[in-house]
Amino acid sequence: MRIFNRSGTLFIGGVAASLFLIGCQSTQSSRVEEVEEAPVASPPVEVVTEVPSEQDIVRSGDAEMRELEEDLLLRKKTGDEKARSLKAIAKRLNAKLERFPEEKEWKLSKEGRTLVLKENSRIAFLDGIKVFLDRSLKKSGAYWSLGESDEKIILEPVFGVSATVSQVSTVVIDPGHGGSQDGTKNESLGVLEKEMTLDVSLRLSEHLEKAGFKVVLTRYDDRLVGLDDRAKMANGLKADLFVSVHFNAALNKEAKGLETYLLTPAGEPSSSSSEPGGDVVAYPGNRFDAANFELAYRIQSSLLERLGREDRGVKKARFRVLKSLDCPGVLAECGFVSNRDEGLLVSTAGYRERVAQALADAILEYAKSSKEES
Ligand SMILES: [Zn+2]
Repeated sequence: MRIFNRSGTLFIGGVAASLFLIGCQSTQSSRVEEVEEAPVASPPVEVVTEVPSEQDIVRSGDAEMRELEEDLLLRKKTGDEKARSLKAIAKRLNAKLERFPEEKEWKLSKEGRTLVLKENSRIAFLDGIKVFLDRSLKKSGAYWSLGESDEKIILEPVFGVSATVSQVSTVVIDPGHGGSQDGTKNESLGVLEKEMTLDVSLRLSEHLEKAGFKVVLTRYDDRLVGLDDRAKMANGLKADLFVSVHFNAALNKEAKGLETYLLTPAGEPSSSSSEPGGDVVAYPGNRFDAANFELAYRIQSSLLERLGREDRGVKKARFRVLKSLDCPGVLAECGFVSNRDEGLLVSTAGYRERVAQALADAILEYAKSSKEES
């Protein structure tokens, strides 16, 4: 409460609030006339919305208060309720924060984990793996700021202040496309995405069953299953995890590498969008934002380790298959069939087996972390 004592107006607000409380007590003792006389005209709610001036902050010697003030000031300056001061975040998480001016980078570290942030960019590196933030690290007045969703979904779980993962016993694997939907293709190599995804999913299912999980695929043969039906199937089975397997393609034949998607948090822009904001509505799948990130990160990291391909990052998109899930879920893009070299790799059983192993490793690690936490 000390914040209220440093500025005259705020302090008066505090007095008004006290009188208001006295007034309320009076009502209970039926002395109604005093309530009418009490100076309740400035309701205490206004006090809370007041923000200390910059001078107040300079005078403040109290680090804890200063953090709160930095966040408040930042929100006032930017008009952005979701802006969070990077320094304040680091303090809250008890993480070390370093700036590298020449590289225009910041590094947060704690207990062997590091997050490298780039100034004016949404791209960050978590223990060397590329991750897309919802908001760029940007300077507002005297402070560098990040977004609230990135703090909640990435920084807090990574630097150990919140548990995100729940127990896993049933896993639903979703081989992308099928039936009349071929997905992407490389005609010269004769590669159809729907065949590649089914093959990887069957292999993955074998690995997971061996490890003791109950595994169900959304399709076991070449048939069309609606996107909503895939999520419904997982929900009906009370799945603990959902992984959709895909391969990529692009008009630019040079494009290659691996990327893993989670559902974009409510009100935030997807990774492919440069516009701020996005669907404000929270989908059922958004209940698991932090777990979705954890799973996507583990899968991306494991795919890179097993396959050694280019890191295109952990990204966010509002994929329909992820929106209505009742459990954590992600969508993995396991290589570009449109790229000559990668397409050739994808067409080999050896590559697809390594994809399956990588996905299995990641799911096992994810499930193990839930056991450690519980
Ligand atoms: Zn696909």
